[in-house]
Amino acid sequence: MKITLTISFALLFVCSVFAQNKTQYPDIPRIDVHTHVANNYGGIEKYLELRNLLLKEYSADLSMWINLGGGKNPIRNLDSINLVSENRMLCAFSDFDPFHGLKYKPEDLINKREQGFIGFKIWYGPWYRKLKDGEKGFPYVDDPANEPMFAEMEELGVLAASLHIADPNGPFGNRTPWCADPVEYWREITGFYNVLKKHPDLKVVAAHSSWLICQDAQIDYLRFLLATFPNLSIDLAATFQYFDLVSYDNLRDFMIEYSDRILFGTDAGTWNTKEETQKRAAAYNRCFRILETDETIEGSFFGDKPIKGLNLPREVLEKIYYKNAVRIYPKVGERMSELGY
Ligand SMILES: [Zn+2]
Repeated sequence: MKITLTISFALLFVCSVFAQNKTQYPDIPRIDVHTHVANNYGGIEKYLELRNLLLKEYSADLSMWINLGGGKNPIRNLDSINLVSENRMLCAFSDFDPFHGLKYKPEDLINKREQGFIGFKIWYGPWYRKLKDGEKGFPYVDDPANEPMFAEMEELGVLAASLHIADPNGPFGNRTPWCADPVEYWREITGFYNVLKKHPDLKVVAAHSSWLICQDAQIDYLRFLLATFPNLSIDLAATFQYFDLVSYDNLRDFMIEYSDRILFGTDAGTWNTKEETQKRAAAYNRCFRILETDETIEGSFFGDKPIKGLNLPREVLEKIYYKNAVRIYPKVGERMSELGY
């Protein structure tokens, strides 16, 4: 009797731990709008393996990914990527070093769109990562050299996705190493403001919430940008690890108020082994639980800092996970229907 009881309790414990890891929302599809796998076909197959594992272990349906490029070779053959990804991956063409002059010209845009690219990813992080000391170049996104490109993107409705501006700047005493100097940080952010102001019809998904998510007042500035520029949206890639730097209520309130403009993303790259797929699946699940539950989650996508879950309402989750992506990106809605959603 005693043994049976012990076994029953043990089973109950195992089941409850397992159930805890499963999402309460198995019916909401999820789109990751911020990944970097480029042309790595083995890497793309790993994303399908990841999808299956998330379904099996966590009941979470990661239905599609946006591939923002990365690595040395630009994405060329979209047909092969469609085939290998079983039509679950759409791609942006990208420029990770606009500091030495944009890689593409305004006249390339129509051709890129006709090839099936869904947007143009531009990396405008801190210039000192790419320009050597004393080297001139185009350090800020509002450089006049970039004007013709933004004007043409605005004219044609080519989405800037995801446009990366600046890098994390934490509060005084905890600045974070990425962009520790607040003056430099605000120069980069101001450059972005100037572009948005000059091109109000430019459609932009700002990567990593435009890195305006590491201080409470940065979130207020994000409110100002989103309220001022209706064509601006933001992705959440790599931001979860900083949620402890801002006030919980402020962040949760912001997410609910601007839920039409926020998209799920991770910044996942490439990996090689089954064990790493397992680790990525666990990382995705931690992000899901941060958005969905009120539990304190040990770690997020990157890093292992505990983050308190935001417990967002179902309608908000639906928008962040897929409805906004369907509305904002070309081709996503069409693909989702073809995939049976
Ligand atoms: Zn990225």
